[in-house]
Amino acid sequence: WIKRSFIWVGSIGLFSFGGIGAIAVGGWLSLRGSVTIGTTLLMYQYMLKLEEPIEQVTEQLAEFQKSAAGLRRTAELMATKPTVMRTGRGELPSGPLSLEVKDVSYTYDEAEGTVLNQISLSLRPGTRLGLLGRTGGGKSTLTKLVARFFDPSEGSVLLGGIDLREISTDSLRTRVAFVNQDVRLFTGTVRQNVTIFDPTVSDSEVERAVREVGLGPWLDRLPSGIRTQIGLDGTGVSSGEAQLLAFARAYLRDPGLVILDEPSSRVDPATEAMLSKAMDRLTAGRTSIIIAHRLDTVSTAEEILILDDGIVVEHGLRAELAQTDSRFSAMVDAASAGAFRQGRARP
Ligand code: ATP
Ligand code: MG
Repeated sequence: WIKRSFIWVGSIGLFSFGGIGAIAVGGWLSLRGSVTIGTTLLMYQYMLKLEEPIEQVTEQLAEFQKSAAGLRRTAELMATKPTVMRTGRGELPSGPLSLEVKDVSYTYDEAEGTVLNQISLSLRPGTRLGLLGRTGGGKSTLTKLVARFFDPSEGSVLLGGIDLREISTDSLRTRVAFVNQDVRLFTGTVRQNVTIFDPTVSDSEVERAVREVGLGPWLDRLPSGIRTQIGLDGTGVSSGEAQLLAFARAYLRDPGLVILDEPSSRVDPATEAMLSKAMDRLTAGRTSIIIAHRLDTVSTAEEILILDDGIVVEHGLRAELAQTDSRFSAMVDAASAGAFRQGRARP
């Protein structure tokens, strides 16, 4: 900015001198009768004509500086070493994937202690698992390990019978869909946001995915359909719609494992109903893990796992747990008592 200011002040100074000089010299020459007054005026006009391009150059210089700063930051980002090594070559099979978590422990920070402690679980292909537990219990951490955002400190995770570390990153990223509360939208069209700028996907596929998650009426209201521009941070898109767009993204890839970190209760009841319908559609016929903060969300799950303080305190079939004297049935009782007090349900 300082450099730019110098150039700017310098060019103003130069043109002031230039202007005065042109008038002075022209005036002197015309007084002597060497040139006409018209020529003097012309000299001054030529001076002014030079000013504009030079101003443009200084503006471009400022733009160039900004771009160079952006380029430096991009280079820094590109030079960041990933903590997850891309060494795997294995390809995941098609269709729903089996999941096996074997004695997994995880520590973010030695000082804070273990977040997950010797977790083991296995899911048959096509099973829907509801993941419950108190806040900070390690639910999100467990799912991030399953999606290989980082590797476990101890133990291993197997998808489709293959250790995550032996699966190619491309295969893993296409076959595993991870949707959490933190949806990132880009400046671009609806289509670009759903396909994440993949030009090979056909328009009809994109439209089908968007309609499948329940955004049909929304899409019909858009002026140019899937070619409508949406802004950075989702300008013109509500948080519920953004969540559904994230579902459409996942739907498009036809994943074998779907991980959903339930959106918090920020949305209104109508959007909530749309979201849960979309969740059901997205997870149908696929292995899925749904982190739920409300019990309604896991009403269609076959299995329930409760995680507290990094250990599995309960895991079993939902129908069985609901019948027995379990943590899960206690949660269901507490939730329905709460709903009764608020006048939403009958005992
Ligand atoms: P919630 O229901 O609130 O989403 P959760 O069960 O998903 O909670 P996690 O997000 O897995 O909980 O967090 C488990 C523990 O790990 C918490 O004590 C949290 O403070 C810690 N933790 C989470 N992410 C990080 C991180 N990036 N760095 C350090 N500690 C973390
Ligand atoms: Mg969480």
